[in-house]
Amino acid sequence: MADDRTSEMQGILRKQRAAHNQMRPEPMALRKDRIERAMRLLKEHSEDLCKVMNADFGNRSPHQSMITDIAGTVNFGKYCLKHMDKWAKHEKRSVQFPLGLLGAKAELRYEPKGVVGILSPWNFPVNLTFGPLMQVFAAGNRAMIKPSEFTEKTSLMMKELVEEYFTPDECAVFTGGPEVAAAFSELPFDHLVFTGSTATGRKVMEAASKNLVPVTLELGGKSPVFLGESADFAKAGERIALGKMMNAGQICLAPDYLYVPESKQDEAIHGVWQGTANMYPKLRENEDYASIVTDRHFERLQEMVADARDKGAEVIEVNPGNEDFSNTNARKMPLTILKGVTEDMKAMQEEIFGPVLPVKTYGHIDEAIDYVNENDRPLGLYYFGSDSDEREKVLSRTISGGVTVNDVIFHVSMEDLPFGGVGPSGMGSYHGVEGFREFSHARSIYTQPKIDVAKLGGFKPPYGATTEKAVKSMMK
Ligand code: NAD
Repeated sequence: MADDRTSEMQGILRKQRAAHNQMRPEPMALRKDRIERAMRLLKEHSEDLCKVMNADFGNRSPHQSMITDIAGTVNFGKYCLKHMDKWAKHEKRSVQFPLGLLGAKAELRYEPKGVVGILSPWNFPVNLTFGPLMQVFAAGNRAMIKPSEFTEKTSLMMKELVEEYFTPDECAVFTGGPEVAAAFSELPFDHLVFTGSTATGRKVMEAASKNLVPVTLELGGKSPVFLGESADFAKAGERIALGKMMNAGQICLAPDYLYVPESKQDEAIHGVWQGTANMYPKLRENEDYASIVTDRHFERLQEMVADARDKGAEVIEVNPGNEDFSNTNARKMPLTILKGVTEDMKAMQEEIFGPVLPVKTYGHIDEAIDYVNENDRPLGLYYFGSDSDEREKVLSRTISGGVTVNDVIFHVSMEDLPFGGVGPSGMGSYHGVEGFREFSHARSIYTQPKIDVAKLGGFKPPYGATTEKAVKSMMK
């Protein structure tokens, strides 16, 4: 069975590569047409896609899905269409003196790589599949996609729609569980983009290494929020609540934990409490608030809270409507703030990926900086405050994939900024011109002039005085 799937995928890869070789360099008009078709697919089936995402999650607001998965991705397609001619321009580069005078030329061309594999997760199943696809197409590639098995209905619909809008040698979707995913990651692609957890990212990179397939890894991690003394705690609380509660915290960039001044802890917690209560006075039947994706994910979060409680954390449930969550199978979980956390708690060891928010305190901001530096490099880092020296200190002394100042998550929505992690939170990036380059091969082309440059430069035997003079001048 698994072998059948593998040979099916190998067959499509061969077909796509053959078609690509025939069409190289894949005309700009065709690349644009593919992006337009992907945009049309999303526009014409936005409601159906929101419906199946809702069904896959148990509850997920169609409004939220429209913003995060459909409109955001269509907009990104528009951004690619607008900029791709400029991105694809050949760049003239300089040649060392005096080669330019002699007629030498250096040029850089961004060329398609060929067939790109896209492995996507469940949390934004459409966005994290079609988002990379837009730039994979912009760069003149073809694509094979393996979406997540946790959002099964959405994955199946994406497969059916891709089959309707694209030929299999342009784009193809393969559904299935971890076994299919593992076989997919072993295919000899020209590039592989993986979005998912750090643990699976490791396996993907190992599988890709067998064929030396270059990878872009969009992973996760614990993204900290620094609240400076100068922060407006009410406003910060509101913004943190929005970022943490969207998709019920199931966002790679969700604020994972807060780092607050000791003396401001209660004010900070109150800010988040109030911000949450303002947006979600009730949660259980509230369609705006997403469910946790599966029972397994729900249990993991419950265990994380129980573990923190057992080890001495104070657990504050943000439940403004005083609702009973115990006898429901809707997998709705209120925001749960953990006060007094210690490093032995699961909540401080793994990425949270749900509505649980540990709060750590510092006496001096340097303690928070040191803590972040001692742990895995995060995907996002957030600073709230109006003290520009402190902000610069936090930014220049830490490292993370990206940063939002005075809010959370927003940097990912800037189409012109590259999005990606660093170290355990990922490698490579897309969005911006960087995404186009990520899925292109930067090919250097040097054109030699008529004159015998090697002889003129003294590089051609028999070596002698000209050689010595050239070496001397280079060593000066
Ligand atoms: P996951 O790692 O469990 O799964 C992602 C994909 O990998 C799925 O398609 C799955 O089928 C596939 N997969 C599973 N086992 C595999 C294997 N052995 N080899 C190859 N592929 C395999 O991640 P998830 O639970 O779907 O998503 C949550 C994680 O994704 C979180 O850690 C989150 O931070 C991260 N994430 C990162 C970004 C980003 O852009 N950086 C965005 C969203 C989510």
